[in-house]
Amino acid sequence: MKATIITIGKELLIGSILNTNSKYLSSKLTDLGVEVSKQVTVDDNMADIVNELDIDSKSSDLILLSGGLGPTNDDITRESLAKFLGKDIYIDEEEKLIMETRFSRNGESMPKNNIKQVCLIEGSTKLKNNWGVALGEYIVKDKVTYVVFPGPPNEFENMVDNYLSEIIKSDDNIIVKSLDVIGLGESRVEEKIRKLNIENGNVSINTFAHQGYTEIKIIGKSNDFTFVSKSIEVVEETLYREFRDHIYSDKNLEIASVLVEKLIENNLTIAFAESITGGKLASSITDVPGSSNVIGSSYVTYSNESKKMNLNVNRETLEKYGAVSDKTAYEMAKGLKEKTNADICVSTTGEAGPNPSEKEVGTVFSCIYFNDKKYFMKHYDFNGGRNKIRNRTVNSVLSQILFLINRKEYQNEGK
Ligand code: AMP
Ligand code: MG
Repeated sequence: MKATIITIGKELLIGSILNTNSKYLSSKLTDLGVEVSKQVTVDDNMADIVNELDIDSKSSDLILLSGGLGPTNDDITRESLAKFLGKDIYIDEEEKLIMETRFSRNGESMPKNNIKQVCLIEGSTKLKNNWGVALGEYIVKDKVTYVVFPGPPNEFENMVDNYLSEIIKSDDNIIVKSLDVIGLGESRVEEKIRKLNIENGNVSINTFAHQGYTEIKIIGKSNDFTFVSKSIEVVEETLYREFRDHIYSDKNLEIASVLVEKLIENNLTIAFAESITGGKLASSITDVPGSSNVIGSSYVTYSNESKKMNLNVNRETLEKYGAVSDKTAYEMAKGLKEKTNADICVSTTGEAGPNPSEKEVGTVFSCIYFNDKKYFMKHYDFNGGRNKIRNRTVNSVLSQILFLINRKEYQNEGK
């Protein structure tokens, strides 16, 4: 089944609001095993909407429209769909009465324009809007299903949650699973999956790169529920075997919260010495409830002076190798260990830009220090602007710490 999402509204086109409905609906459709082949945004203009419906009806089984169901004259989605289908519009008297009662309860009469919101297209199935006013509906013509949802995200999301599976009415049982992987880039993950050769007509696997982790999405589809559950189970087992300690969650959880959980579970404490990240790492940990069990103190050492004074970084190291260097990152982490004696001491130093000073913008070093014999250096080359570089540093470092904990690196001696 192929779907097109048409979001309607001038406000989307001029950039005054973010199109959250498309994203929300795409992810729900994907979870239901429907392939979204197009998302498009159209002005509140009848000719444009009709033209778009004409194009999409030739290639989609399912066309979902959102927005343009308000009471004002510029909202004409329902009228446009009716015109395209060659159908009339009628007033749903039951809904009209409900709306009139609502207005009269507030001592008001119903404005004439609101009647539009309780109209429906002949032959459609009503989707009651329990979260707002405008009715939704769906109608099938020439094997294509057309669905209309109101635009306000709260109403839209509730209606999608409540009605989408009823509208799709697939005979298939769909199971969707996500595995989140750290310590490997998306292309490496993808390559390994393809080598396993575990996809088949019933199970598909896709990978998605997020900041600091890669998501593996497994979608199983079959009219036989037992068969699809078993197929998914086999695929999951194979993936768990292949990616072992790279998998950190199967619930789309934040890395920081999984990390705090792991630190508590293993009775470990952590401290940060942050230059490029300016406290963001410590903050991401303290955002998580229960973090007081794992973090006592942390340092933001932005200047060279501070690195020397607080962490005993050598002046010669800074002069010879620069603040953005593996040597400095190492001494920061080592100094932090002496100061805090935390089990895991983590440093970051790098060049966030916009103008390079001593190293290329995007150069970042991080040291994860357990003890003198055991520490892990990382050199990253990030691209993007200042914020992106700093955020990517946070996510990458958190995922690297989690990866090392999962491998129980804190237990063994030797580098
Ligand atoms: P409408 O149904 O066109 O009257 O839309 C009502 C309100 O819903 C708009 O003013 C927007 O704030 C919001 N809205 C409409 N379409 C979207 C969308 N695709 N994503 C997010 N918000 C939307
Ligand atoms: Mg609108």
